[in-house]
Amino acid sequence: MLKLYNTLSKVVEPFKPVNPPQAKIYFCGPTVYDYMHVGHARAYIAADVLRRYLMVKGYDVLSVQNITDIDDKIIKRANDEGVSYDVITSRYIDDYFDMLNKLNIKVHVHPRVTAHINEIVEFVKDLIDSGYAYVTPLGSVYFNVDSYPYYGELSGKLDRGEWGQEDEFLSEKRRPYDFALWKAVKPGEPYWESPWGKGRPGWHIECSVMSSKYLGSQIDIHGGGQDLIFPHHENEKAQSEARFNHRPWVKYWFHVGYLTIKKEKMSKSLGNVVFFKDIVRSVKPEALRLWVLSAHYRTPLEFSEEGLDIASRTYSRLVNAVSTLKKLLSEVEPTSYLNDYEMMVLRSLSIIKERFYSAMDDDLNTPEALSQVYELTTVVFRDLEPKPNYALILKAYMLLREFNEVLGVLDKHIYYSPSDELVGKLVELLVNVRQKHRDLKDYETSDWIRNELMRLGIKLMDYRDRSKWVIEL
Ligand SMILES: [Zn+2]
Repeated sequence: MLKLYNTLSKVVEPFKPVNPPQAKIYFCGPTVYDYMHVGHARAYIAADVLRRYLMVKGYDVLSVQNITDIDDKIIKRANDEGVSYDVITSRYIDDYFDMLNKLNIKVHVHPRVTAHINEIVEFVKDLIDSGYAYVTPLGSVYFNVDSYPYYGELSGKLDRGEWGQEDEFLSEKRRPYDFALWKAVKPGEPYWESPWGKGRPGWHIECSVMSSKYLGSQIDIHGGGQDLIFPHHENEKAQSEARFNHRPWVKYWFHVGYLTIKKEKMSKSLGNVVFFKDIVRSVKPEALRLWVLSAHYRTPLEFSEEGLDIASRTYSRLVNAVSTLKKLLSEVEPTSYLNDYEMMVLRSLSIIKERFYSAMDDDLNTPEALSQVYELTTVVFRDLEPKPNYALILKAYMLLREFNEVLGVLDKHIYYSPSDELVGKLVELLVNVRQKHRDLKDYETSDWIRNELMRLGIKLMDYRDRSKWVIEL
């Protein structure tokens, strides 16, 4: 059974969703005012692996990850550049989706705040009507933290002295720890109409609204980076439990550890970020995914060239294992007999499978799961390649496919369409045509063919009388 650490209870608990087999996940997404950095990649990869593993366990998963497309930082950037806020957000939303695509991260719904203003206004109105929120003379709305008795429960901050937030509104709100649900418009800011006048939503309210719209009033797992526990998630929890009048609003709180660089948290405010668009110039996204998974999701992960190098080598080894197994599958005769040694290899594959799943069941222990994947590649190169046996090859190949459902790094190599075979034959044909030109010493044409293939990502390696080709993905 899957066990997950729950930030609310502070212990590792068996995962029992509210309505099995449904598993509903909400993960806090980005505020789109700059390019995605490696810290974002880490958090969203962790959420993706959680989603994948729940699916592998047979749950009917629905995942939601919001996009904050209106916020102080976005408005500031727009003013700095002298453009409207949506010019900024569409630029960085593109960058966000580009990162998700490259990293093979899948999310079902990506709700944007500016498309949910009506629902946000409704939610805030309900909180005012039930006495949990108040309107200020300027037309802003604040959550009255003192009206909700469980504040501080998630973050473990139980002393009012630790709750201070949003200091810039101290003169407007009743208590230093109340937080904004609706912010009255300031000159030069984008705004929407509301019963309290022109304004825009506060940050925390959007996640309560968009999660309940798509996942209902109770959620199985709510996640985000560890830095969101306070005040963001504490506030989301307060306003949602206040409105829906049941607890717990979220059954399991899932928080991802920091990505550090020189032992400091990677963040825009510290100015030490490595952008995703820059790192993928030298590191394959699949290798980056493996590197992220080489640490447990709750521990800090230190950015290092060495770590990325190791992950790149691991990725090459996995790709090599897949292509070796595929090649052997097409060449080897069906098995009619297994000798004692082969029976032993068969058992070792079973042990690898069992250990992989028990590591994943143990609060998504991906470093241990990866070590089992590595062990599987050792079996491929040590036992199967020199003495191929169809039963073992098929078993190992299916196992690697299963593991990839969780890791998500080998799709390009495992899944291919029937047209890929045709592409292979056509490339072969071009390689032969080129060879004929070479035989005739027509190097101009043969070089031209080689260069054109290279432009398509197909690399030729010439030997004395023939050429080999590889697709460099
Ligand atoms: Zn959120």
